Amino acid sequence: MTIKRILCAVLASLMLSLSLTACTPGGENNETTAANSDVITVTLPEVTTDEETETEPDHDDPSLKLDHLTIGGVDISEYTVVIPATPGSYDQLAADFLVRFIGEATGVTVRQTTDAEAAGHMILVGATAYDTEAVKAARLQIKDDGYAMLVDGGNLYVTGALDRGTLFGVYDFLEKYLGVRIYGGVTSPEKQEMYEIKENLRVDIPADLCTVYYSHVAYRRTSWTAVNDGWAYFPFWNCYNSSEFKFAGGPVHTIAHLAETGGDLSPNPCLTDENIYQTVLKNVRLELEKYPNAQYVNISQTDGTSHGCQCKNCKAVEAEEGSPSGPWIRFVNRIANDIKDDYPNVLVETLAYTFTEKPPKVTKPKKNVAVCLCTSSCCFVHAIDDPDCPRNATFAGYVKGWAEICDHLRIWTYSGNFQAVDNGDKNGFAPNFRVIRQSVKFFIDHNVTAVYVEGQQHPEDRVSTAMGELRAYLWGRVLWNPDMTEEEFTAYTNDFMNYYYGDAGPLLLKYVDTVYGDMLDNTKYNKLMEGHSYVICEYGRFFRIYDTEGNCTTAYMDKLADIWAEIYALDTLTETQKYHVDCAAVQFYDIATSVYNTIASKTRDSDVRQKVREYKAKWREAKEIAGLSAK
Ligand SMILES: [Zn+2]
Ligand SMILES: [Zn+2]
Repeated sequence: MTIKRILCAVLASLMLSLSLTACTPGGENNETTAANSDVITVTLPEVTTDEETETEPDHDDPSLKLDHLTIGGVDISEYTVVIPATPGSYDQLAADFLVRFIGEATGVTVRQTTDAEAAGHMILVGATAYDTEAVKAARLQIKDDGYAMLVDGGNLYVTGALDRGTLFGVYDFLEKYLGVRIYGGVTSPEKQEMYEIKENLRVDIPADLCTVYYSHVAYRRTSWTAVNDGWAYFPFWNCYNSSEFKFAGGPVHTIAHLAETGGDLSPNPCLTDENIYQTVLKNVRLELEKYPNAQYVNISQTDGTSHGCQCKNCKAVEAEEGSPSGPWIRFVNRIANDIKDDYPNVLVETLAYTFTEKPPKVTKPKKNVAVCLCTSSCCFVHAIDDPDCPRNATFAGYVKGWAEICDHLRIWTYSGNFQAVDNGDKNGFAPNFRVIRQSVKFFIDHNVTAVYVEGQQHPEDRVSTAMGELRAYLWGRVLWNPDMTEEEFTAYTNDFMNYYYGDAGPLLLKYVDTVYGDMLDNTKYNKLMEGHSYVICEYGRFFRIYDTEGNCTTAYMDKLADIWAEIYALDTLTETQKYHVDCAAVQFYDIATSVYNTIASKTRDSDVRQKVREYKAKWREAKEIAGLSAK
């Protein structure tokens, strides 16, 4: 099989990953909908490739990735991209992407105009004057920021129900039919856009294409500064994970502000005190007046506290409910009830976090209450539903418990190690990306409709040393398409690594998986980790391996250093890829320096001292290249 054919096969398999609802002109699903699911999987329209042919078609222009693109049998060169004369917020951007990438992939410059002009065969972006009954019916089937993509009367329509849905439809069109992979925003000093176009040769989009797609995760957001930075330069690049989502007041840890008793880190006020209740209600109403478009108002516990109010009344509620979440759910239920008539579209959101993770056994959250369950106590090397991970097994039980009683269950999770994220130290190792897909699948199987992934957020942290860009990419992809298979997830991972790090990509994965594998195997190396991990974790402990006499050894560091030596011996990397490698290397050299330092402090071995100097120099050099100030 030639490389081209392998890529075609990968593309075809990726196409099959999306859950799609078939649409018909009558607006009826032409499949039976499963009782517990509102999305049905249908066989997607075939993309024809040259996979079956013995001889490959000649490239007219070898620089093009796509020789042949037709829509309903008509060549792409016959098409004009059309947006509404009064476009939605992202219609122009979506149309620009289409024109640009059709051009890059096929060499055809398609014309662009508005629906005020007639234009022959059209690719219609957004809600235009050319909407047919079939288009209108398909649009009605879209949920949230999904999209409809259909061919009707020889025209291709890509449209969302919300503005950004159209843009996401265009992203999927680019990926599925043109082989475009969008990896991120600007993450290098050269301000290079991070995307590639896969070799695909031949695509025929059928005349009866009619699909509706939306993610089960209606609200998706991943905060990783390097990716966010890209938006400023190249709007919505890799923004599968973006939703507009409006909060009244602050997004979290709001109770003491609303109760006028303190700030984010204050003790929690008494939830059975009528004065507190009335003050919170008054301030919730004020917030909602200030933010008339708010979809949520947050009333949630303060941060850094291990308990709520300990008064007799609050403790009695906790006892009745079998959980400290009891007083919170009763409190927010009462607020929700009091504001529901004035604000029928607003959800009152609270946290289930640290001491309130466990659901109450008596009171159910009201219909207009959302619960945001935070994974801060979870193990991050195992999937949430891994039965062999005791902490996650307990947490998975809480997810199930909340899913049974709560109509709006959200998850707050983390893309990195908060030892690194919170204290500005960028050297945290976070071996958690292999389990993203499985964890998200578990969440959506339990009615989770919103996932926020907290990562590095400060401009000075924009350069990741824990491959945060990969994590942000994978979270974005998985939240957009939670039904992807493990093979597809692996393909996304490998595509990213091979592009972003070049030939160093597979070696970096080997490095990460070596550490990850050893961490999971608590019979090996350092039993301090006990085979599990934490969201705030001093991974330095893991790398310090002691012999039977209790002396720190270099054995493990040396094993990892061999992989890094292989990486730095490569002479095939571009300047940008070298830069990315240096960013990823900071974390290793920091730990290597630290481990060797520990040993050097107890020995007179000159080789060890020499190693300390070498690693420290490499660490400083990598930090400087990565744009991080040396400590
Ligand atoms: Zn109290
Ligand atoms: Zn675990």
